[in-house]
Amino acid sequence: ARSPRLRRIALLGSRAVGKSSMTIQFVENVFVDSYYPTIENTFTKTITHQGQEYTAEIIDTAGQDEFSIFNGRHALDIHGYILVYSVTSKLSFDMIKIIRDKILNYTGTDWVPIVIVGNKSDLHAQRQITTEEGEELAALWNCQAVEASAKHNENIARVFELMIGEIEKSTVPPTEE
Ligand code: GDP
Repeated sequence: ARSPRLRRIALLGSRAVGKSSMTIQFVENVFVDSYYPTIENTFTKTITHQGQEYTAEIIDTAGQDEFSIFNGRHALDIHGYILVYSVTSKLSFDMIKIIRDKILNYTGTDWVPIVIVGNKSDLHAQRQITTEEGEELAALWNCQAVEASAKHNENIARVFELMIGEIEKSTVPPTEE
């Protein structure tokens, strides 16, 4: 069997969009209503994608504003970015555009593996961003988009599967071992 491949994934986005909730839901299968908002944590989980095992190192970042949300430190050794907004917040949707600009500026490339996630899809009445707006942005960026609810565990595993898929798209096919 082929040994697992290590893939480092960072979750970035405005405060309180649900980055920690998504991560904890994925790694530990629970929804915690309030989590420590200012702490950066790294989690590990094994993901199987197309018969290959991946050790996902998931970095739940904790920036507060557009200046601290992405610092160059995050670009080191990161294979893919999950950019999270809340479907209830136009501000958070605008923020992922700023974050992507910063990533591309920092890495000096015009494409990096990205999955954009509209979290809190369960909050129908408070919605400010439509599904189509998310999809249009993904088409523009040539990346994947998905809506999710960390609270109801909807599409959370899918977010990480899509992320691995995007990362693998960008890497050279492995030689058989
Ligand atoms: P972070 O700052 O981006 O890590 O956000 P948190 O994970 O701390 O979540 C911020 C708040 O939003 C918390 O009160 C969560 O319980 C809540 N929350 C997170 N995800 C969801 C979701 O999918 N649906 C709803 N209704 N609330 C959520």
